[in-house]
Amino acid sequence: MEKVQSTTHVQGDGRARLYNFRQDELAKWFQSRGEPAYRGRQVFQWLYQHLAVTFDEMTNLPKPLRSRLAECAVIGTAQERLRQVSKVDGTVKFLLAWPDGVTVETVLMRHNYGNSVCVSTQVGCKMGCRFCASTLGGMIRQMTAGEMVEQLMFSARLLRQEGGRVSSVVLMGSGEPMDNYDEAMKFIDIIHDPDGLNIGLRHITVSTVGLVPGIVRLADDGRPVTLAVSLHAPTDELRSSMMPVNRAYPIAKLLDACRYYCRKTGRRISFEYALVGGKNDSLEHARQLASLVRDIPCHINLIPVNYVPERNLRRTPRDQVLAFQRELQAQGVNATVRREMGHDIAAACGQLRAEYAGRV
Ligand code: SAH
Repeated sequence: MEKVQSTTHVQGDGRARLYNFRQDELAKWFQSRGEPAYRGRQVFQWLYQHLAVTFDEMTNLPKPLRSRLAECAVIGTAQERLRQVSKVDGTVKFLLAWPDGVTVETVLMRHNYGNSVCVSTQVGCKMGCRFCASTLGGMIRQMTAGEMVEQLMFSARLLRQEGGRVSSVVLMGSGEPMDNYDEAMKFIDIIHDPDGLNIGLRHITVSTVGLVPGIVRLADDGRPVTLAVSLHAPTDELRSSMMPVNRAYPIAKLLDACRYYCRKTGRRISFEYALVGGKNDSLEHARQLASLVRDIPCHINLIPVNYVPERNLRRTPRDQVLAFQRELQAQGVNATVRREMGHDIAAACGQLRAEYAGRV
């Protein structure tokens, strides 16, 4: 596994951001401060097994050490700006603000198979997909691994109060994880650690717009996570009109990288296909899509497009969504229609942040 070097342990006020550390880094950090390495493991367990938010809670650390930590380190730095809870399915959407003023969204979804959390990897996005709210204001800055961890902790703490836990994580919030690769991987290492949140790699989904070098790198680096690829169109002409990234990495190259990922990891790909009324949702499109992916071990997630006020998109009627799914299945391709979570709280990516920005 490729070890990712990061320079983001310390920020702004010079205090160490503890959510930015893998367990081994935390042990080294304590050693560099003249403390025994096992303090790293203890603090890591406090952070992720006990979900501690203060050093005072860390009762197996000597009191003087706790006071020193409070001076030179911080646990969380984000503030909850808004919280919306769906009356329909209990989906919770948090809008979080960091000290430099940026805001991102994270969403907790409750399924019958467990709780999943959607995390944002960038503030905004520069990919420019025509149907997406996250990219409207461009890319503001990267999220650090620790800031991604912190997003997750808001849901972890809420679930703990209910006796539950986070069972899966999807990197499907705002931003493109492959455009922030090192931090995204470090985030995965931290939440996967068995001494911490212990989230299995198979329960972590990295969703990409289709940055081919990132897919190849992920295939090679020994973290067999679930890869979701936002395909959304079966021809280059149509895909380029919806997703500018297709000009750099057209469909044939993208699917070659997907085949490589399957070969290297033994994992199936999950293709995302947002159905936009009158654009990519005909039965002919379904047949073209099926013939593109037929030889790839995969699953297609059909997503009725979410309404974005600025985008003026038409939704595909329910009957047509189901007809599209049946056509794919008839062609021998696995397809499900994604259950929509929290549609009463605008839970799709970028929507809450965009709304909030419009209000202030
Ligand atoms: N940048 C990554 C992950 C973030 S977007 C990616 O592109 O995959 C997560 C998913 O939501 C992607 O499949 C994206 O294409 C999709 N999406 C964006 N806007 C949408 C909308 N208005 N309706 C439905 N899906 C949308």
